[in-house]
Amino acid sequence: MSAATTTDRDSMDFAKTKALFHLPDGVIYLDGNSLGPLPRSAAARVTKAVTEEWGEMLITGWNKAGWMAQPAALGDRIGRLIGAPNGSVVLGDTLSIKVYQALASALEMRPDRKVILSDSGNFPTDLYMAEGLIRSLAQGHELRVVAPEEVAANINDKVAATMLTEVDYRTGRLHDMVSLTAKAHAAGALAIWDLAHSAGALPVDLTAAKADFAVGCTYKYLNSGPGGPAFIYVAPAHADTVRPALSGWLGHEAPFAFDLDYRPGHGIERMRVGTPPVLQMAALDASMDIWDRADIQAVRLKSIELTELFIELVERDCPGLTLASPRDPANRGSQVSFHFAEGYAAMQALIARGVIGDFRAPDVMRFGFTPLYIDEEDVRGAVRILADVVRNDLWDRPEYKTRARVT
Ligand SMILES: *Cc1c(COP(=O)(O)O)cnc(C)c1O
Repeated sequence: MSAATTTDRDSMDFAKTKALFHLPDGVIYLDGNSLGPLPRSAAARVTKAVTEEWGEMLITGWNKAGWMAQPAALGDRIGRLIGAPNGSVVLGDTLSIKVYQALASALEMRPDRKVILSDSGNFPTDLYMAEGLIRSLAQGHELRVVAPEEVAANINDKVAATMLTEVDYRTGRLHDMVSLTAKAHAAGALAIWDLAHSAGALPVDLTAAKADFAVGCTYKYLNSGPGGPAFIYVAPAHADTVRPALSGWLGHEAPFAFDLDYRPGHGIERMRVGTPPVLQMAALDASMDIWDRADIQAVRLKSIELTELFIELVERDCPGLTLASPRDPANRGSQVSFHFAEGYAAMQALIARGVIGDFRAPDVMRFGFTPLYIDEEDVRGAVRILADVVRNDLWDRPEYKTRARVT
């Protein structure tokens, strides 16, 4: 697995990377798996994009400031973290949209097959998008959702594509991308991977795994800010033949020819749809300056140290919490979840005391570990406060039990 490398984590100075992020005073932020914090340089970068580019260049910014080239340029930089060669990743839209695009193209490549195989640990939007696509196609496709551990056994010659999220958003359980992709291919199916909780969390090698499609978001571990664009990868072997279902003008071979007929663009460019979010990409650009210098193997080793320490301390000091994540770090991503009957209220009590994680129904308290800006001292501090909350029933107050719109 990823830990078996020659890299040691001292190849990175995590005290230095921590200083590159703005973290509010008094906050221990264990939710970078949901929304990454602000890179300090992002505020100035976005301001520059607003004032010097949008403000001064107006529409000429598309060329002069390189806005139009950014979705592919940033895609290449993300590609380094996920084992994707230059020219195989492009940014745009939201992850839900990118899931739809990947799946639509995959189904078109396997017209004789009708099953999309996914698992019950997948993030609901991926399943919802598949349902909507099936309805629009009206060709008799079926979304088959099995337990995560039963995916391999359900790959057969009816399956057009597997659609799996590598790291389970709720428990952090890690699928074996290499073996499941190989199994899919042996059965004649295509493999689509959602890297929402993988990109920037652990090393991914899409090329070695021979993945056909991959998608992911940038506002989680990659810190592009709320609403940052998603990315999509298409294996180079397919990139010039896949047919985009969302055939927008910026995926056209010649957008500014304004032809009346759609012709797909070259390679990954065809997976673009419409106008890219320039200001949001400016924030991502600042974040990628940090990621460009990061050693993802070292990040992974440090993440394992932090999650192992967190589990050890919670199990020692926090009665009533039971581990919901795989115990073996080789089988989990960069987050740790615990079941706790009063999980929602306990998380609110925790947040009120400056420790930010999140809650996932029905009873999961989820904590993300992001070595670029979270260290051992944060882990110890968070568990001290969590222990206080659960040992002294500090969660047992009405104001902690009212559910907000976003949990
Ligand atoms: C976070 C996440 C999403 C979010 O999709 P958006 O369209 O960006 O809101 C989708 N899928 C998975 C697996 C996720 O973890």
